[in-house]
Amino acid sequence: MPATIHRRQWLKQTSLAAMGLGYGLTSMANEEGITRNFGSEKDLINLGSNENPYGISPKAKQAIVDMISQANRYQWNVPTLQQYRKQLAEKFGLTEDNILITAGSGEGLGLLARYFNKGNIVTANPTFGILPSNAKRLGTAVNEIPLTNEKVHNLPAMLSAITNETSLVYLVNPANPTGTIVTPEAMKNFCVEASKKAVVLIDEAYIDFIDPPNNQSMLPLIASNEKIIIMRTFSKIHAMAGLRIGFIAAHPSLIQKLEDANFSTTGYCVSNLSMAAAMASLNDDQHRKSCKQKNDAARSYTINELTKLGYRCIPSSTNFLVCNLKDYPGDFAQDMAKKNVLLRYNQYPDGKWCRVSIGTIEEMQQFAKLMQQV
Ligand code: PLP
Repeated sequence: MPATIHRRQWLKQTSLAAMGLGYGLTSMANEEGITRNFGSEKDLINLGSNENPYGISPKAKQAIVDMISQANRYQWNVPTLQQYRKQLAEKFGLTEDNILITAGSGEGLGLLARYFNKGNIVTANPTFGILPSNAKRLGTAVNEIPLTNEKVHNLPAMLSAITNETSLVYLVNPANPTGTIVTPEAMKNFCVEASKKAVVLIDEAYIDFIDPPNNQSMLPLIASNEKIIIMRTFSKIHAMAGLRIGFIAAHPSLIQKLEDANFSTTGYCVSNLSMAAAMASLNDDQHRKSCKQKNDAARSYTINELTKLGYRCIPSSTNFLVCNLKDYPGDFAQDMAKKNVLLRYNQYPDGKWCRVSIGTIEEMQQFAKLMQQV
């Protein structure tokens, strides 16, 4: 099978795959079910997957180079990786028995959907799709609570949707696809209240893009609460989407239950190279800071340009934004793909919206130019 195909074929295949799997082609926050073996067209601008366009930290690159000579070894036979789980935990103020390493957070979300397969799951609509879509395929009921008009999680409505049958509450903060946040105080209260009835899973994939003082993780809650899980990934601010590494954090008693249910093998799905790169990246504050600064500047520029053109953008705390397309006729994602820009598009009860990942400033300038012609 050739790895690359022509764009027109890709569009056709994507539509067929999406229809076959029952997904909207334009589904904005679902990373599954969409064929992406896109040809290597040289002018393609990928604003569809919330990747970090600046690449991995130079320290992470060096760590990979240094580790390559140990690629023939299993990780437990590499002295510098034997303590990886412990070192990773310590970086986040946790202990080894608080975490499970996963091959990106997507793997963790799929496993958690399988584990919490009784009763129902409460989540938002729209939200990041891996967990709810896996749950639905397994036959678990998913109660999807609409975001507010400002595209923020409706915490009171989510709380009152939790029943005695709810096994899991899944909330993404900052939210995907909308980029909005709830304050740390509101989130803490929600976790405390919701966890009285069900396990609460907070997906913090984009937390490093939030400005202080709202950039507080819910990780400290797991020390005393056995019903809270935090999901983290190295795919976003660390720019390691292709290296596939993340982790699940929870109270040791819950981690033990997950390990007993086969989660303990997840760590072996992560390569020596990814582990070495993740640790090096955690030690490179400068790289993360520089990625955030460049992202903030490119995002402000994009919001400014779209606003000048009369589009309503939702304030974002992430490396993507959603924008209302007014009365755009047709499929915006398909039309932009014909112009070599990949992004997400969806129609909601309150209109047509697109989700645009924040690329480099040059990429956003090209995107803004195309938007002037819409
Ligand atoms: N969670 C959220 C909210 C995401 O947006 C994504 C990817 O876009 C993921 C999890 C999965 O990322 P990964 O599997 O690369 O860690």
